[in-house]
Formats: sequence, structure tokens, C-alpha cells
Amino acid sequence: MLFVSCPFCVSPGRQILEKKRSGRYNIENIGRKCHFKTTQSSYRNLLTLLNAVLSQRKTSKSEEIMKEAVKLMPGGVNSPVRAFRSVGGNPVVFKRVKGSKVYDVDGNEYIDYVGTWGPAIVGHANEEVVEALKEAVENGTSFGAPCELENVLARMVIEAVPSVEMVRFVNSGTEACMSALRLMRAYTGREKIIKFAGCFHGHADPYLVQAGSGVATLGLPDSPGVPKSTTENTLTAPYNDYQAVENLFHMYPNQIAGVILEPVVGNSGFILPDKSFLEGLRYLTKREGSLLCFDEVMTGFRISYGGAQEYFQIQPDLTTFGKIIGGGLPVGAYGGRKDIMELVAPSGPVYQSGTLSGNPLAMTAGIKTLEILKRPDTYEYLERITRKLVNSMITIAQDAGHEFCGGNLSAMFGFFFTSGPVKNFQDAKNSDLAKFQRFHRCMLERGIYLAPSQFEAGFTSLQHSEKDIEETLQVFTQVMKEI
Ligand code: PMP
Repeated sequence: MLFVSCPFCVSPGRQILEKKRSGRYNIENIGRKCHFKTTQSSYRNLLTLLNAVLSQRKTSKSEEIMKEAVKLMPGGVNSPVRAFRSVGGNPVVFKRVKGSKVYDVDGNEYIDYVGTWGPAIVGHANEEVVEALKEAVENGTSFGAPCELENVLARMVIEAVPSVEMVRFVNSGTEACMSALRLMRAYTGREKIIKFAGCFHGHADPYLVQAGSGVATLGLPDSPGVPKSTTENTLTAPYNDYQAVENLFHMYPNQIAGVILEPVVGNSGFILPDKSFLEGLRYLTKREGSLLCFDEVMTGFRISYGGAQEYFQIQPDLTTFGKIIGGGLPVGAYGGRKDIMELVAPSGPVYQSGTLSGNPLAMTAGIKTLEILKRPDTYEYLERITRKLVNSMITIAQDAGHEFCGGNLSAMFGFFFTSGPVKNFQDAKNSDLAKFQRFHRCMLERGIYLAPSQFEAGFTSLQHSEKDIEETLQVFTQVMKEI
């Protein structure tokens, strides 16, 4: 144990920083005049800051790269959540990823629970996927013409996902959801859609709508540049609120083309659906002649091999995919009932195209990833390690006196700094965001890489070992005592 004087204090010697065995600092003997002792939360923020300053994790190369990046790209990133805006500090610049770990340009190693935002379910740079890609690249990166690999992946998706009879590959989840919307409108000849507050379906204009606080709100643009005219047909309701959806159908009879939702929410943090809510939406959409679309960009091949719809035994009319089906390369897809999908060009009039869609590299990575996932016991393993992680976190956090709740389904998990239960985005916003910020920083400093937002889910992979989980829990225990 090492004691040093508080470097920020006017009366040195009175306040002492205690260097713990873990390498972190805590404050002992805080005197009346100590700068740290203003308010409880500013004290804790300062402590977090201090630990960041004094920690052994060097980040100078990351910082240097980000300094240049902000001059070259908006916010220095190519997707906003990477910028660490909601947790503060600089993003970590990665050099390479492998298995359950990521490595930054300064030589730090982290156990990773972001998994490139979902695709890395068989582990980063999986040897089998890499080998398959090496072989495929020799034949060319893009054909712009049919290739047999498209049939193989299409067949795998159709065989795996109960409601999908036909599929179209695109290049991202955004494209998939945007195309599914066009198709829902074309099939029904109606223009309105219902989405849920806190569900994300990519950044196409009609989806950039956040619900107001009422039961149902007419869409208002969430981002400048989105014309009101493109969102006025987007109706929103709170997640898990069947009655709100019923009310919208009552208010707009024969006008609602479809209902789209994340069947397990990942974009408000991790939120489970009530099974009765999903069943209610299935019943209601059928009754009203509108379509039900499950956005399984995140949950597809993650909740189970057949996605959330297989797990909950509910068949939507359309499903969107992304992330895992591309095995880490840019892929999205939408699929569903044959009579609906046959409306897509060129078999039908609904236009949608893509230069790189179904390219052989993306198809290869997707095929190999699904092949690995299909092997025995994969989902049992994912459920076991993820449940152990989350259940232990809940116990540890609550024992340390924190308001904390969380859960998992297979390899998708999440937690909130609130006692819960969290049923929708509004509940999620009760989480103590300042505490999450301190928590995130402390975990990062100790080599645990979590999504830099309270409103994101976490992901495990087949490469996360029992040892990774143990190490994560050890760090978590220490951090819970400090924040
Ligand atoms: N739908 C859901 C449920 C998502 O989580 C995401 C991305 N996180 C998207 C759609 C958009 O996918 P992409 O980033 O590939 O465009």
C-alpha cells in the first residue's frame, strides 16, 4: 500500500491518496478543506478523473490519431456512437481484434463485450472465417452478377428462420429496414407505420422519429435534414404497451401498412418483450390487414439460430437482418412470406437494388459464421456464460448498495443503474447516467471494453471463456466499490 499526499489539495499532508493493490487510488482521511470533498458526485467524478490520469493505461497514440481524425471526418468517426460522447473521454483506437479480445494502438488489451456491435458472435477474426475469406478473395471481391454463394446463404437463412420463405441481400441493416418499409407500404397500399420509442431501425428518414411522452405521438423529425413530410406517417408507441398500439389502429383505420419492432430491444439498452405483447401485435396486425415486421438485425442468429421469432414462437410477415449474417462483412437482408417478397423487383414492381449486394466475400463470411453457429451446444454455451456474467453482476452491484437491474437472452445482455423493472425507453431513462459514465471509464481503464452508452446492449461470443467472465467479474466487483 502506498500513501501519497493529495496533489490537488491546498493543505498537503492532510489528505492522503491510498494506492490500492489493484493499482487504483482511493482517498483516505479527507479533510474539510480537501478539493475532493465538495459534493458526493463531484468527488466521485474527480476520483474517476484522477484514476484516469494516474492509471497505467497509456492512450497517447489513440489520442494522437483521434486528434487528426476529427479534422478529417465529422467527430473523427464514421458512426456517431463510436465517439464516446455519452461517456466522455477519447475513443480507443483499435489496432487488431482476436477472439474475445481487442487491442488498441497503445498496446492495451481489453476483454470485449461490443463485438463490433454484434457481428462477432463466433469471435473476432475467427480462423475458419478468415481461411474461407482468403480462399474466396482469390476469385474476386465483387461479381455484380449472380453467384452460387448467394443461393447457399439464402438457403441457410430460409431454413433457419421460421417465417422466411424468400430473402433479398443488401449491404446494411439500414438498407434492409428501409427496403422492408417500402415493401410493407407497397403490399398494403397504405402509408402509415408504427414503430416503438427507443427502437432503432437504421437511419433512413422515416425511422428517425422519437416518441413524445404521450401514449401515441405523431412523428416529429429527430434529426435536422429530415423533412416533416417523410416522418408524418410514422406513428410511435411505447414498447410493451399493447393498448397504445390498439389505440393507434383505432385512430387510423385502414391506414397502417405495418408495425416494425426489435423483438428484443437492444437500442434502449437491453429490454425484453412481454410474450403477450408480441402475441398481441401478431393478432392485431392480422386483424387489421397490416404487416408485422421483426427487425432482427441485432437478434437474428443471436437469440437463437432462428432468431427471436424462433425463441418466442411468433411468425412475423417480414424480417430484417444484418450484423451476424455478414460474419463481420457489410451485409443486411430482408425476407419473409413469398407472396410479399415476390413484389420486389425484378419479380415485382417494388424497386430496390445494390452494386455490392450479395458479393462473394460477404456471402462467404456469412456462410462460415452460420455453419459454426449451427454446431451442437453453441447457444447453450452462449446462454450459460452470459447468464453467469449478468446474474453475478446483479448480485455484486446490489450487494455493494447500487440500484441495478439487468438480464440476458442467449448472447445478448444489458443492465441499468436503476432498480427497474425496465419495460420501455422511458423506464431506461431512469438509469443513473452519471454513474454509468464513471462505471464505463473505470471498467475501460481496467481492460473491459463495454459499449460507451447506457442505451446499448452487450454481446458475448463463442470465444468468451469462463476465465474471461471471471476476470470481468473481478474487475466489476472492485469498480462497484469505487463508483
Ligand atoms: N436495426 C437494428 C435493430 C440495429 O441495431 C441496427 C444497427 N445497430 C440497424 C437496424 C441498422 O443497421 P446498420 O448499422 O447495419 O445500418
